[in-house]
Amino acid sequence: MNRNLPQTGAIGKGSTSSYGPTVGTVTNQIQYGSMNIAHGAHPSSRSHQIPPERTLNSRPSKFDRVEVTSPVLRRNSVQRALTDNTTIRTRLSSQDRTSLVYYPSAFVISIESKLMHGGLTGLANLGNTCFMNSVLQCLSNTKPLLLFCFDDNLESSLNSSTTSVMKGVLMKEFATLIRRMWSSTESRSIVSPSQFKNQIARFAPRFTGYYEQDSQEFLRYLLQGLHEDVNRVKKKSTPTKIDEKAEEQMHEKNRAKLSWDRYLSTDNSMIVEIFVGQLKSTLECCYCGYQSITFDPFWDLSVPLPRNKSTSTLQQCIQLFMSKEELDGNEKAMCAKCKQKRRCTKKFSIQKCPEILVLHLKRFSQSRGRTKLNTMIDFPITDLRLNDLTDVLSESYEGPAPVYSLFGVSNHSGTPYTGHYTAACKHPFQSKWHEFNDSR
Ligand SMILES: [Zn+2]
Repeated sequence: MNRNLPQTGAIGKGSTSSYGPTVGTVTNQIQYGSMNIAHGAHPSSRSHQIPPERTLNSRPSKFDRVEVTSPVLRRNSVQRALTDNTTIRTRLSSQDRTSLVYYPSAFVISIESKLMHGGLTGLANLGNTCFMNSVLQCLSNTKPLLLFCFDDNLESSLNSSTTSVMKGVLMKEFATLIRRMWSSTESRSIVSPSQFKNQIARFAPRFTGYYEQDSQEFLRYLLQGLHEDVNRVKKKSTPTKIDEKAEEQMHEKNRAKLSWDRYLSTDNSMIVEIFVGQLKSTLECCYCGYQSITFDPFWDLSVPLPRNKSTSTLQQCIQLFMSKEELDGNEKAMCAKCKQKRRCTKKFSIQKCPEILVLHLKRFSQSRGRTKLNTMIDFPITDLRLNDLTDVLSESYEGPAPVYSLFGVSNHSGTPYTGHYTAACKHPFQSKWHEFNDSR
């Protein structure tokens, strides 16, 4: 089947017959990055250089899983990757603007030319580790993260305090692996992620065994582990008391900002800057109309697939996730005003878009055993605009909404029990698409 990239900007368009008549759940994880500038090749201009692990008898890798989109690196991110905040501020105040702009761009140019022909290195399959390898390939092509791994000051960013379980070791091992993946300019090279996997096993023992795992779950664990390892907050703070009454009186925009600052007071890292956004949830009492509003950070959005439809679009899935849901029966929620459980509506919207947006298509269903939905989902390669969708961005959303372009997909094919993960990624410097498949 269509084992290469979608030809038309649609993912997995075509027949679902390769899945067979039985259900197999696959989770489609899509990761998009917020782009400030549109970049990337037109879909028709990509090449298909396939790393070595792909073999002719590989299982069908229908394009049905995760996408990662990458934003163009903002100059600020480069600066951050280069120096710490203090240095930037000092430089700004000294009005040495020329060197401030010049130095980072020189850094980027030299790194870009160094990495221009790298990154086409395969990862050895250590036995059912395709879920890990597909995520690693997507992250390897996440430009701001890649540049962070090559930052000369990375060592000094490592957090060995009590706010990190791994004391910087996971990030160090991750960066070592990424550097190895980018050091060869041969497109047929291969490296083993075993050392990295050993550290993952220490951090999250559930990924120790050689079993099929969910790549979305793995991605979330990994990013949080990496975040802890470079968290700038080195002291566990006592939780601040929230004055709910006072906050309710505040303008929503200020409340969101306060909530975000509270989050940054415990979790503040380069990884947060790249991947974390803020979600607003509104719980409204159907009886008295009282609204309880909360703001929470999110690392990815797990969007549901429309039921009873054989095809849909990514935008429709996002819309569905953000649509009002009624909570009734056992799900009734406590209304702060009525002081009793009431029928309520719940609604999500985005308060703050992340730089890199990770979207996960919820193909796996836990009901009636583990099953997979085979609904075909069309998704845009470029120009995913959240502000074109109804009620997806919060009313108090600030600033221009980002335009996202796709740069990576972690794709699951097969059934929940015998599936296989591959990755399709857009090279951050050549803008060509490549498929990574460690099937053997
Ligand atoms: Zn009420």
